[in-house]
Amino acid sequence: MLLISCPNCGSRDETEFHYGGQAHVPYPENPNELNDREWAEFLFYRDNTKGAFAERWLHSTGCRQWFNMLRDTVTYEIQAVYPMGTARPDAAAAAPDSGTASTAPDSTTTGTTAPDISGTSTTPASTPAPEGATT
Ligand SMILES: [Zn+2]
Repeated sequence: MLLISCPNCGSRDETEFHYGGQAHVPYPENPNELNDREWAEFLFYRDNTKGAFAERWLHSTGCRQWFNMLRDTVTYEIQAVYPMGTARPDAAAAAPDSGTASTAPDSTTTGTTAPDISGTSTTPASTPAPEGATT
């Protein structure tokens, strides 16, 4: 059980929150210019990082506000909680985030090869809430 520190309410039990998927996935600047592959990558393909991972959380039974959290996916250690729309706190130390919906293999994935979108064994992630829906 995680004890999550909501930026508005303070420390609360994990059961009060909902996971919102990977943070910092920008909406395409020109959605009409994306081909099907690029659009599918924006909608369904997310990093599967081993280690520090930036993710969105909703305090659904509290203040009902979205926020970002930097969490270690191995140890579950919560390294930072920060508002929507702000940069990842360890961005300087981590690999640079391109900030665009690129079709190039994701260079931020560490220790593994880039995800193969032609594979058939992957399962699409649940539909995430919009980035920066509320602040
Ligand atoms: Zn809250």
